[in-house]
Amino acid sequence: MQSYRVRPGEQVRLSAHDPDSTDGFDGKKKKALAATRELTTRLERLQELLYADHRRSVLIVLQAIDAGGKDGTIRHVFEGVNPQGVRVARFGRPTPEESAHDFLWRVHRQTPEKGEITIFNRSHYEEVLVVRVEKLAPRSTWLRHYRQINDFERSLTEEGTLILKFFLHISFDEQRKRLEARLRDRTKYWKFSSADLPERKRWPAYQRAFEEMLEKTSTPYAPWYVIPANRKWFRNLSVSRILVEALDGLQLKWPPLPADFRSTVVP
Ligand code: ATP
Ligand code: MG
Repeated sequence: MQSYRVRPGEQVRLSAHDPDSTDGFDGKKKKALAATRELTTRLERLQELLYADHRRSVLIVLQAIDAGGKDGTIRHVFEGVNPQGVRVARFGRPTPEESAHDFLWRVHRQTPEKGEITIFNRSHYEEVLVVRVEKLAPRSTWLRHYRQINDFERSLTEEGTLILKFFLHISFDEQRKRLEARLRDRTKYWKFSSADLPERKRWPAYQRAFEEMLEKTSTPYAPWYVIPANRKWFRNLSVSRILVEALDGLQLKWPPLPADFRSTVVP
């Protein structure tokens, strides 16, 4: 899984990352599903432990092109996890109130509390993606934001937040299939947005913006992972694995029984 991690300062060419990859699970979808189920069970337990331990928090950032699978990832990876300890924050076009503040204002108020896992469905990274590609701010503004984002994430991690960032990598062709499905399947009409097609036209500009985001903001304390995401089952497996490994690495502990309870007998 380390191979998906973007090393700080590394040059990223998304064309060199195969979105179809099912690394080690080629033709073994069943096996992958079983492995994912096992990881989901472990995640359930680790989330409870994180909550009980109450010293650390976890922030998961999901970014992808439209139809990249952010919603599906959240649904599958967190299946079975106690909803009390997990929260999803979405970031859409800023409201007038949000626009009146610095760009991190709305983001900081959504960061996880101790013991909590928060998933960002889109995030502060829109500031160097949609804002850049759609020219919503001058270049000097979004250029400055790379550094500010790194500083912000550094301060969060220093205060005990584990940050994991996933870029879900799909191909141009896979996006067409998924957008077509939104127009053909009546249970998916609601997902189609009039902005989807103009954005698809700017695919190369978005890919470039994603690459630069990965190059400039994958840090030792808040790494990016480029996840091959054409196969949903492999995407779910990969995200689950990285998440479980990272939580395991936190060395969380069940709080000990307080001394004054040690001789307590329940009548
Ligand atoms: P899906 O990927 O499933 O279509 P979505 O994430 O696109 O879901 P929407 O509510 O359709 O959800 O879109 C949110 C929109 O808000 C996106 O087009 C995104 O680019 C935009 N947005 C988010 N942050 C900003 C920002 N800081 N400035 C401008 N636009 C933003
Ligand atoms: Mg959308």
